[in-house]
Amino acid sequence: MFTGKTAVITGGTRGIGLAIARKFAENGANLAILATRGGEACEKAMEELRRFGVTVKLYLCDVRDCAKCEEVAAEILKDFTRVDILVNNAGITRDNILAGLSVADIDDVIDVDLKGAIFMTRAFIRSFAKQRSGSIINISSVVGLMGNRGQANYAAAKAGLIGFTKTMAKEYGRRNIRCNAVAPGYITTAMTEALTDAQREELLAALPLGRLGTPEDVADTVLFLAGEQSRYITGEVIKVDGGMYV
Ligand code: NAP
Repeated sequence: MFTGKTAVITGGTRGIGLAIARKFAENGANLAILATRGGEACEKAMEELRRFGVTVKLYLCDVRDCAKCEEVAAEILKDFTRVDILVNNAGITRDNILAGLSVADIDDVIDVDLKGAIFMTRAFIRSFAKQRSGSIINISSVVGLMGNRGQANYAAAKAGLIGFTKTMAKEYGRRNIRCNAVAPGYITTAMTEALTDAQREELLAALPLGRLGTPEDVADTVLFLAGEQSRYITGEVIKVDGGMYV
């Protein structure tokens, strides 16, 4: 489905990002994976992806650093000649009620989850415009649509990402660049493993589909938005939340 295409995935060495990378690799896409840390687990993930027979390269890049995003994007374009898909997946949480949030908690989340996606998109947009094609997928969250106690910084960043998505759709649609967002609900990754049993039970009781999501649930939607089947969809937000926010 994606043979000969190249996808860039931020935060692609674990969690949802790795599941997205796996699906793309399974479907023939070459991969440029961005992460802040290398190490053994990261190398293992890269090896696993290479077993699909596609080209996989790892780039260390903190998406908070705009200059580094530009530098890495140029390097990727040199290594792969062209990029077809950008998935802005890197994200962090620093949860607390508003009065308890430090300035660093607010800055860190906005810097990674919102500004990081803007920086990365900005770094690739000229090459997309030049080739008159490109698909950008931003990983937002249902929390950006519905708000959530204890996540003012995160909800604001993820809501901001939706505004950014819609704006990119409007600014670059004429150049055949599509930009969509995916809004996952509770997905089982490192980000959500801190849930207590009581919190998990309460959550499950409120979920129409009666289970937490998997990274693969999100990855399937990202692949749909990246490919031909969604060719007339842009500026859209697709919830992958088991009905959490209906
Ligand atoms: P995760 O397992 O904690 O992974 C986060 C990823 O982001 C890691 O690969 C990490 O790379 C990368 N990252 C963090 N800070 C970065 C930075 N400054 N620069 C570049 N990369 C950075 O989280 P996840 O659950 O897979 O979440 C992935 C995305 O889905 C996030 O945007 C998250 O907000 C969103 N989401 C998750 C859920 C959920 O329930 N899990 C729900 C809704 C939305 P390193 O390890 O190399 O730092």
